Amino acid sequence: MGEYSEDNRGDMPLVPKSKVDPKKVESDRLQAFLLEMLKEEDNKYCADCEAKQPRWASWNLGLFLCIRCAGLHRNLGVHISKVGWGGAVGGGGI
Ligand SMILES: [Zn+2]
Repeated sequence: MGEYSEDNRGDMPLVPKSKVDPKKVESDRLQAFLLEMLKEEDNKYCADCEAKQPRWASWNLGLFLCIRCAGLHRNLGVHISKVGWGGAVGGGGI
C-alpha cells in the first residue's frame, strides 16, 4: 500500500509523493464530520429505531444508526445506504 510504481510514467506527469496519506486525510475528515453531527440532538439516537448512542453511520443518507439497524441497512446494499463504523466517535463506550 502506498507504493508508487515507477512504471506508471507515460504521458502523465509524475505526481509528487505527498507526505500526507490521502486515505488518512479522508478518514480524519469523516471523523471530524461525525463529531460535528453527533453534537446535534437528533443524532444521539438511531435514525430508525431511536436507540441511544448509535455507533454506525450511513454516509450517503447522513443518518446515525444502532448496530441492529446498521445491519439492516447493509442488507439493503451499498447502492442504497453506505454504512460505516463510527465506533471511535464520542469515546463514551456503549
Ligand atoms: Zn436502530
